[in-house]
Amino acid sequence: MSWLTEYVRPKIRGLLQREVPDNLWTSCDSCSQMILIKDLEKAQRVCPHCGHHGKVKANERLDWTFDDGKYTKIELPKVPSDPLGFKDQKKYADRLKDAKTKTHLDESLAVAHGKIGGHDAVVAVMAYEFMAGTMGTALGEAFIAACRLAVLQKAALVIYTASGGARMQEGVLSLMQMPRTTIGVEMLKDAGLPYLVVLTNPTTGGVSASFAMLGDVQIAEPEALIAFTGPRVIQDTVREKLPEGFQRSEYLRDHGMVDMVVARPDLRATLGRLIGLMMNKPVAPSIEAA
Ligand SMILES: [Zn+2]
Repeated sequence: MSWLTEYVRPKIRGLLQREVPDNLWTSCDSCSQMILIKDLEKAQRVCPHCGHHGKVKANERLDWTFDDGKYTKIELPKVPSDPLGFKDQKKYADRLKDAKTKTHLDESLAVAHGKIGGHDAVVAVMAYEFMAGTMGTALGEAFIAACRLAVLQKAALVIYTASGGARMQEGVLSLMQMPRTTIGVEMLKDAGLPYLVVLTNPTTGGVSASFAMLGDVQIAEPEALIAFTGPRVIQDTVREKLPEGFQRSEYLRDHGMVDMVVARPDLRATLGRLIGLMMNKPVAPSIEAA
């Protein structure tokens, strides 16, 4: 008996586990079709069946945006982490600690520099996975640092936005980041450098009312929700049925709020071309072929 339980059973279990790993497949959030996780990652998390653009982590964005996936991340400025000593059901300090452990990020913005289509670029990515990409003092500081770096390197600044809005745990200090980030964008404009915004799902609240709407070119991923206040609240207030696709990328493009809607796999080539045009530099052949 002991030979069976101690030797044969673990062997069989090991074989089964090797053949059927439970994390091989996933289903699309939109069409519910099954997709191999490996295929989904290769397609930059765009569903091969319906084209739905799934959620993306900040580090993946950086990998896909820079030429050959090569970039240097910068350390973000340090700020007082809990200026108001805020507590709801949980202490804000504990929420921050949890978010850092879970995401391996310091804050809701990651900043890196490298090349896009052969052109120098600084890229800032909002991390929705970090407290819903909310904007607090640290994000404001990190955004200003990204602007300063772009000015210093005479490079373009690209930002991917994804946010639930202001970080309520920082009260008015969070709202103060709206004018601060706007001044950051002004620094780029004074230096004559391109500022490109890629709006991703969802971009809402104070972020959509500040730096997310100030791009020289406003790009959006397909079907992203881009709003100050979400459609449900508006519908309940005005008590009218909202038009189809209200506050989605395509609707905003058709009504002049967004310049172009670009599918995720085409973003790097589009950004490279735009930076080249705006900085009056030839476009690298590698990006043209992409
Ligand atoms: Zn799908």
